[in-house]
Amino acid sequence: MKTLVTGGAGYIGSHTAVELILEGHEVVIVDDLSNAKASVVDRIGQITGVTPELIVGDIRDRSFLDTVMGSTAFDAVMHFAALKAVGESVREPLKYWDVNVSGSLRLIEAMVDHGIERIVFSSSATVYGDPEVVPVSEDTPVRPPSNPYGWTKLVIEQMLTDTSVAHPSWAVALLRYFNPIGAHDSGLIGEDPNDEPNNLMPYIAQVASEKLPELSVFGDDYPTRDGTGIRDYIHVVDLAKGHTAALARLAEGPGRWVYNLGTGRGTTVLELIDAFEAASGVKVPYRIVGRRPGDVAELWADPSRAERELGWKATRDIEQMCVDTWRWQQHATGLEG
Ligand code: NAD
Ligand code: UDP
Repeated sequence: MKTLVTGGAGYIGSHTAVELILEGHEVVIVDDLSNAKASVVDRIGQITGVTPELIVGDIRDRSFLDTVMGSTAFDAVMHFAALKAVGESVREPLKYWDVNVSGSLRLIEAMVDHGIERIVFSSSATVYGDPEVVPVSEDTPVRPPSNPYGWTKLVIEQMLTDTSVAHPSWAVALLRYFNPIGAHDSGLIGEDPNDEPNNLMPYIAQVASEKLPELSVFGDDYPTRDGTGIRDYIHVVDLAKGHTAALARLAEGPGRWVYNLGTGRGTTVLELIDAFEAASGVKVPYRIVGRRPGDVAELWADPSRAERELGWKATRDIEQMCVDTWRWQQHATGLEG
């Protein structure tokens, strides 16, 4: 299928572009490069043998979208382009409503006008908030998010749900990601945060490579097996494969589907540090500090619906996630391992 990938130069979008190309899809990337480098596209080409077209522009710009969609008949859109830093979204909420919500609105309007009726959307497990029971299935009620970033994901899910009702020929997949980590095993693409990382794994990797002095562990007094927070870490390549599986589902006919993309296994902060040290052979100095506001004790997926309906299942374990992160981190910082 000819697929327009918004945010395709970013972390998850680039890995998904690789999997799409390897499965024979034609990929065109739209990205404003606000959080990515153009050279990622060449590296996708090195991995797959096919360098996708990159069109640099902003999804909020309707005339830009008209030019892109008017020049080629796309079969589907994969929509990754967004801002994703939770803390920044609290400080600058309007920026998040603008890029994430207005950007998605412009994109969906343009799809309607250009007759593109399939979309895969990057949602997040954050829509489950602090659930009463874990693991969470797609039937677990969504909760009012604790930050503007989470609200944007919930609102865009609703926007797409409403669109699928008004346009019954549309096929919509809302993919709720758990905690994507890891990198492609080529070492050529991975997560490359410009600023100090917000998320645990990139922080661990930067401490291990001595870019940062030590990790702060946010709380060891949660009601979990070692007192630290539990999350469902998923290898980004498994996550990417979940997207191609969802696209295949959309090709079968119209409808609207929600899928959790997680492993179904929870890992504590201290377990992830241990696994990373074992995989890298490098010590990760850390200090226990207070809880981070808004964090939940544990959040992990029941991914059985995606397995049942998409035939998709995450296969890479925590060790693999750490090995691949470390390989990428060394590549990204120019160190040799
Ligand atoms: P990323 O920042 O690496 O990728 C997003 C890409 O979108 C970047 O390349 C950026 O340059 C581009 N972009 C941003 N604003 C744009 C705009 N206005 N027009 C065009 N391009 C724009 O982030 P990621 O981790 O790859 O996340 C991809 C998607 O997955 C996002 O929607 C994010 O909210 C969602 N998500 C991410 C995580 C995570 O932990 N990484 C978890 C759940 C959901
Ligand atoms: N965490 C931590 N130190 C950090 C970043 C995160 O202890 O520097 C913890 C956080 O409290 C949570 C887990 O690691 O329990 C995962 O956090 P992350 O921000 O990666 O994902 P999210 O909270 O969005 O699920």
